[in-house]
Amino acid sequence: MNAALKWAGRVSRRKIKQLYESDAQGMLDAELVDDVGFGFYSRLVDMFEIDEASQGRVKCRKCGSMILRRKGTRASNGRLYRGRDEALKCAQCDWKITWGEYFDSYSGKSLQPNSAINAFKKFKSRWPTLKTAKDKMLLIDWLVHQFHLQYRDRIPLKPAAVNLIEGTPEQIIVLLNELAYSADSFAELKVKDDWKEQLNDEYRLIITRVGATKILKLGKELGVTDYRKMPIKSLIDRIQELDATLLE
Ligand SMILES: [Zn+2]
Repeated sequence: MNAALKWAGRVSRRKIKQLYESDAQGMLDAELVDDVGFGFYSRLVDMFEIDEASQGRVKCRKCGSMILRRKGTRASNGRLYRGRDEALKCAQCDWKITWGEYFDSYSGKSLQPNSAINAFKKFKSRWPTLKTAKDKMLLIDWLVHQFHLQYRDRIPLKPAAVNLIEGTPEQIIVLLNELAYSADSFAELKVKDDWKEQLNDEYRLIITRVGATKILKLGKELGVTDYRKMPIKSLIDRIQELDATLLE
């Protein structure tokens, strides 16, 4: 693999825990705020660079110039871009890589912004403008309590923090439930309460438990008209009307 292709890793759960503890003790650790915040920020910068690349604009990792991927012929192979063997060469320096190597460097590492893209964009643009540790803490607190909003109905499905903090989605939910808050915290309890409410969203729980694929399959089996096109919330409602036991 190309040595120049390293992406920012996720922040450890221990650091997040320590950060909230210092805040709850009324002694917010400004160094830790920067450490965590810049950790998120560099991760997001990389995520958006990868997002651009997946849309055909690859940034040279050596000099920063833009390399445009060549379009394949959609009609013949159905793909927008050429395959893994496409050579990406910087016109301004000697950096080169194949698309396959580039793809392998980020694939499977939660480095794509997906359905939490708006939250990530907001953090990425706001972070560099903040001066005080308090404002930074508030923004961090806000971001770790965002969700990936999915389907037409924008259902909160998994914490956006899975892209930013080490651990499985389950470990991250446990961590967020345990974060320290007190009357002295800058981090706001309301953010956590809103998050808990979304976490217990009835539709979210059903989709997580049953799986979206199974829900669609049930829609088909029950002969629900437009089961593929309707919002998933409406489909769940419809299935429950027909046979509530199917979603248990
Ligand atoms: Zn270059």
